[in-house]
Amino acid sequence: MPEQNKLPTLVMKFGGTSVGTAEAMSQAVQIVQNSRQDWPRLIVVTSALSGVTNLLLDSAHQSARGQVHQLYEAENRLRITHDAIADRLIQDLARSVQVKQEIGHLIAEFSNLCRAMAVLGEATPRALDAVASLGERMSVRLLSAALEATGVPAQSVEATQLIVTDRAFQNAHPDLKATQERTRRVLEPILAQGRVPVVTGFLGATPDGVTTTLGRGGSDYSAGILGAVLPADEVWIWTDVDGVMSADPRAVPNAATIPELTYREIAELAYYGAKVLHPKTIRPVIDAGVGLRICNTFNPQHPGTRLVADSAERSRGEIKAVTAIRNQRLITIEGRGMLGVPGVAARAFGAVASTGTSVPLITQASSEQSICFAVPASSNGEVIQALEAAFAIELAQHDIDRIWATEDVTILTVVGAGMIRTPGIAGRVFSALGQRNVNVIAIAQGSSEVSISLVVDASDADLALGALHELIVTTNTGGAQ
Ligand code: ADP
Ligand code: ASP
Ligand code: MG
Repeated sequence: MPEQNKLPTLVMKFGGTSVGTAEAMSQAVQIVQNSRQDWPRLIVVTSALSGVTNLLLDSAHQSARGQVHQLYEAENRLRITHDAIADRLIQDLARSVQVKQEIGHLIAEFSNLCRAMAVLGEATPRALDAVASLGERMSVRLLSAALEATGVPAQSVEATQLIVTDRAFQNAHPDLKATQERTRRVLEPILAQGRVPVVTGFLGATPDGVTTTLGRGGSDYSAGILGAVLPADEVWIWTDVDGVMSADPRAVPNAATIPELTYREIAELAYYGAKVLHPKTIRPVIDAGVGLRICNTFNPQHPGTRLVADSAERSRGEIKAVTAIRNQRLITIEGRGMLGVPGVAARAFGAVASTGTSVPLITQASSEQSICFAVPASSNGEVIQALEAAFAIELAQHDIDRIWATEDVTILTVVGAGMIRTPGIAGRVFSALGQRNVNVIAIAQGSSEVSISLVVDASDADLALGALHELIVTTNTGGAQ
C-alpha cells in the first residue's frame, strides 16, 4: 500500500495520569478526535492507569512472600478504578458490560498469577512481567471503547503482537527488524480501514510469544519503537506537564518549559533522571528521522517541547536544565596496592553487573588508587557483597584496603549543549553551590560536552537543585524564563 504509507502518520502516547481518571481519559479522547483531521494515520499507545503498575507489582512481591490477604483489596481497587471510567465514558450499555467483563478476566488472571507466586514462594522476572503487563492490557480496552463511544473507529491491539524482544524480562530489548515486519503486518490493515489502533505501551513478547516488558516507564519507548518501524512522521508524548522543563516542576516550582531541545540534550536529561521521557525512546526515533514532541494532555494548546537536530548554532553555551537522581550511594574501592591488581575496573564492574544493577555515574577520584561509582541505594548491600566476594583475595592481601559506601546521595546534572566549552559556566556552577555551603562529593563530566554531573549529600539536594536552577533563570538570556 505505497500510497497509504505516504499519508501523514502520527504515533501518540498517553501516560498513566493522562488516562488515570474519567476526566483525564476524556481529555485524551478529545485530543485523538481533534487530531484525526490532520493525521489520517493515527496510532495511539497507552500506559496503564496511573498507580496500576505499582499496585500490580507490589501485590506480586507480597504474594511471593506468602502475603495473599491483600489480594482481595487489590482486585477490588483494580475493578473499581477501571469500572468507574467505563461507566462514565462508554454510554452503550452492552459495550460497557463487555469491556468490564474483559477487564474482570484480566483481574482474575492477576489473582491467579499472584496465588501461584504465593504457592511457589517466588516471583520470577518472567512471572513479574506477566503481572506488570496486565495494567496496559486493561487500559487499552478502556481507551479504545471510550474512543469508539465518541465516534472514533478504534481497535485495541496488544503489543505482544507487534514488538518482538529478547528474553531479558523486566528490561527487554526489541529486535527492530522482526518488530517492523510484525507491526506493519498487523497495523497496516487497521490503518487502511481508517481505524485508530490503540496499542498497549510497556510490553512486547519473545519470538515464541512470552510476554516481556521494556522497563518501568517504558511506554514512551514503545511509542518510539512503533514510530521508528512504521515509520511515522512524528511521535507525540502526552503527559501531565507542559513538555520538558528546566527542572522537575514538583521539586522546583518556577521551572519553565524548554521549547526546543536537541536530541543529545534530551538524551542526557532523560538519562540523568528527568522522568518526563524514558531515555531509551530517543535512539530509535533519531535513527529513523522521526520528529518528537512532548506535550501536556491537560493543556493541549501549549506547544510543549520539540526535539530538534543537533546543530552548531543551536548549541549556545547556556545551561538549559538541571536534573536529579535521588536515593543513590557512592561506592568506593580503595587501596594503595590497587594499581598492581590486574583488570581491577573490569572485575569491579563485572561484579556489579552480576547483581543486575546499573551504574548511572562513574567518577575519577583525585588519587588513582580508587574507583568510585554510584548505584541505587536499594542495591547497595548486594553490590558491596558481590564486590567483596570478587576481591576476596586482594582484600585479604591488603592490595585493596576497603570497599565502602556513602550514605544516601543525589546526582545533580546540569545540561546544555556547548555548555562545557563556554568559559565560566562550570565555575558558576561550583560557586553557586559553594555560596550555599553545599559540599560537592564527586564530579563527572559527560564526554559529550552536554552535561556536568555533581554528587551531593541527599540532605543538600533540594538546596543545590534550587541554586543550580537559579543559574538558568539568571544567566540565560532567552533561556528558560
Ligand atoms: P507519564 O505518566 O505521562 O509517563 P511521568 O510521571 O512518567 O508521566 O513523567 C512526567 C513527570 O516527570 C512530571 O509530572 C514531572 O514531575 C517529572 N519530571 C521530572 N523532570 C522533569 C523535567 N525536566 N521536565 C518535566 N517533567 C519532569
Ligand atoms: N505502566 C508502566 C509503568 O508504570 C509503563 C509506563 O507507564 O510507561 O512503568
Ligand atoms: Mg512516564
